Amino acid sequence: MIEEGAARPADGFGLLDHIPIGVFILDRAYKVVCWNRQMMEWTGTPPADVVGEDLRTIYPHLKSPMYRIRIEEVLEGGLPTIFSAQLHKGAVIPMMDEAGQPRAQHVTVRPIPAPGGGRWALFAVQDVTDLVGRIRDVRAMHTRALTEIEERKKAESALRVEKEKAEKLAEQLRFLSHRDGLTGVANRRYFDETLEREWRRSQREDEPISMILFDLDSFKAYNDNYGHMEGDECLRKVGTTAGGHLMRPTDFLARYGGEEFVVVLPGSDEEGALTVAKRLREAVEELAIPHFFSLAGLDVVTISVGVATARPKADDGSQPGSLTGAADAALYEAKRQGRNRVVAARSHPVES
Ligand code: GH3
Ligand code: MG
Ligand code: MG
Repeated sequence: MIEEGAARPADGFGLLDHIPIGVFILDRAYKVVCWNRQMMEWTGTPPADVVGEDLRTIYPHLKSPMYRIRIEEVLEGGLPTIFSAQLHKGAVIPMMDEAGQPRAQHVTVRPIPAPGGGRWALFAVQDVTDLVGRIRDVRAMHTRALTEIEERKKAESALRVEKEKAEKLAEQLRFLSHRDGLTGVANRRYFDETLEREWRRSQREDEPISMILFDLDSFKAYNDNYGHMEGDECLRKVGTTAGGHLMRPTDFLARYGGEEFVVVLPGSDEEGALTVAKRLREAVEELAIPHFFSLAGLDVVTISVGVATARPKADDGSQPGSLTGAADAALYEAKRQGRNRVVAARSHPVES
């Protein structure tokens, strides 16, 4: 029980016992003038034990500069000051809750006029344990959310890496399924698909498209005399050499079948295609692969080359097979004329 009015000025302080805020007042000598009911409940110290006492003898930590300087400022008539649970470690007046845990407190100290002149310091102590707890919870939630976001980002990036790997693998498989195993150049399937696409593009864009079909001369005799292994090696060399002579990124070489190769030159007219064809024929001859059994008239491996150019128009119903047919006919003509030469589909030899 509180002793009503014990050692208090008879000026109505009793009202302070009915507010849920701890209130105490210090005079200039730090003597407690008032200690309300809430302070008693929170500290367990009744007013009778503190009123009239120097609070610093009960709570020596109040002598530390952090408290002393600021309380003195208030007593000098300075601005009110705050000791916040958020900003200051420790409590102005240590108080435990029911569970024996320290209560977080927010303390405002302001000057009030003392009877008979001078100032007292009025301390208003709010219990902000709940608030601090909630802030801590919110912060913890925030940290958890950030961690989750971070983890999700990591998972997403790992997923992206996996997806890229899978795409790369699929691309490699696609690439391999379009390669000729022996020579390493594109295979017949790639040729069929790509020619179809380029043909339609030529139709759409009203661009010429050319084809070079070439076949190794007297290759049966080469195999028969040098062996199939040498024949394979020869095909590889010719394929690599031909591939190295294509300039435009859309030009492509494929193994058409057996010892025949095909080059497609999207956007090239006959003149351009003939230039490439002659270059290819020369390049193969310059490889100087011995072939003493060739009907082409030289002692080295040579090729016969057919060239055809088309200008397909949109919706003209034309098929890329017509271009292949024309190139094949030109190649046949090059063979007929004696091999190791380039013939254009208009059916006259352009080089001998
Ligand atoms: P031509 O000058 O008229 O073209 O005569 P050719 O002997 O080259 O033509 P032919 O069609 O009679 O023979 C083609 C030869 O190409 C037969 C075959 O053994 C050979 N050949 C086809 N594919 C391969 C291959 O992958 N490896 C090897 N080593 N030889 C092949
Ligand atoms: Mg041949
Ligand atoms: Mg052939």
